[in-house]
Amino acid sequence: MTKRLYYDSSEIREFDSVVEVVAPLSPEHPRPAIILRETAFYPTSGGQVHDTGWLSLEGADRLRVAEVAEAEDGSIVHYLEAPAKLPLPGDKVHGSIDPDRRRDHMQQHTGQHVLSAAFIELYQMATVSFHMGEDYCSIDLATPSVSPAQIAAAETRANHLVWENRPVRIRYVSRVEAEKLGLRKLPPTERDELRLVEIADFDLSACGGTHVSASGQIGSILLRKTEKVRQGIRVEFVCGERAVRMARHDYSALSEAAALFSAQLGDVPEQIRKSLEESKVLRKQKEDSLDELAELMASAALQSQPETNGRKVVVRVFPDRDIAFAKLFAQKVTRVATPAIALVASTVDPPGLVFAQTPAQISSGAPGSTADMGALLKQVLSSVGGRGGGSRDFAQGGLPASSTANLNVEQLLREAAGTIEA
Ligand SMILES: [Zn+2]
Repeated sequence: MTKRLYYDSSEIREFDSVVEVVAPLSPEHPRPAIILRETAFYPTSGGQVHDTGWLSLEGADRLRVAEVAEAEDGSIVHYLEAPAKLPLPGDKVHGSIDPDRRRDHMQQHTGQHVLSAAFIELYQMATVSFHMGEDYCSIDLATPSVSPAQIAAAETRANHLVWENRPVRIRYVSRVEAEKLGLRKLPPTERDELRLVEIADFDLSACGGTHVSASGQIGSILLRKTEKVRQGIRVEFVCGERAVRMARHDYSALSEAAALFSAQLGDVPEQIRKSLEESKVLRKQKEDSLDELAELMASAALQSQPETNGRKVVVRVFPDRDIAFAKLFAQKVTRVATPAIALVASTVDPPGLVFAQTPAQISSGAPGSTADMGALLKQVLSSVGGRGGGSRDFAQGGLPASSTANLNVEQLLREAAGTIEA
């Protein structure tokens, strides 16, 4: 069992120790793993992520500690980025913790204690889990809902506690004693001695993590997204330097949006609402115009097309309109009383074909509407390597993207028309 130097002080960044175990590399363990007699490196546990840093050996390069984990027997395992020369058991090492990463973790973790206590104090909402990620942290509250006003009030209360700069103390008590103290959180494990973290006159809980020594060092607590999860409501938050970084990031994004609208920051939501409303109107106008255009083009095409065998066969290639318009055009051509067949293509990327005929119920079963569009399309596509299908009256398919450059699509459609008329 490794002695944990961080238990007594979160401020230790440098320490000397001795190598106890060097795990051999294997396919399952591609990274070297080292166990020391004592360590100040914090292993991932209790919702808090591990430290990183370096191990220095006399007369050798520094070894980068990339990950730190807790083994079942209580040992702390330091995983190294594959180094050239590994130490041997008994070697003396000097450990250095990445100070910025550790400070960040202390801010997030202690901030979590303050925030969880604030939710209890104000709304009796208990924290059932804590997660610390690389970008943001979250707690899950055992409650069916949290209002935006409650979020704001908990944030305010938590920040007041930060600014009061209350001492954060560590002490050890027996489990029996701990049960009498009324802790916010009592771990379920059967341990004789518990490590308590106390924020003076505000919060007392059992925790093995690294914490700041006074609440002022948390800096600030910023609450962000909330979402419903299985066990309640998840509240995302960031503390200290992360809060400043996140606020800076948000400000930049909002400023960019405001500049695009030539608006003040606070007016951006209103500008977006207006803009969305305008695009909705424009989209509707565009749809109506395209519908009218397709209608006019279809009727002109039908007028100029002579009738053969009691029906009209319209062949059309659109080099500048998409497949949706080709489909619209085909529908307009075939939804008239005169039986008609439309063999239409769009060569705009992605190129495609639409084959349609006036359904028998519209043309009153008039002679001529007896071709099979699905079968015809399959036949045409099989010759050029496209994919698609459909029913007797309507079929649609895609042409290979590269085919339209060296394929005479109009010729392809005329040949298909020829097979119907034959
Ligand atoms: Zn803690």
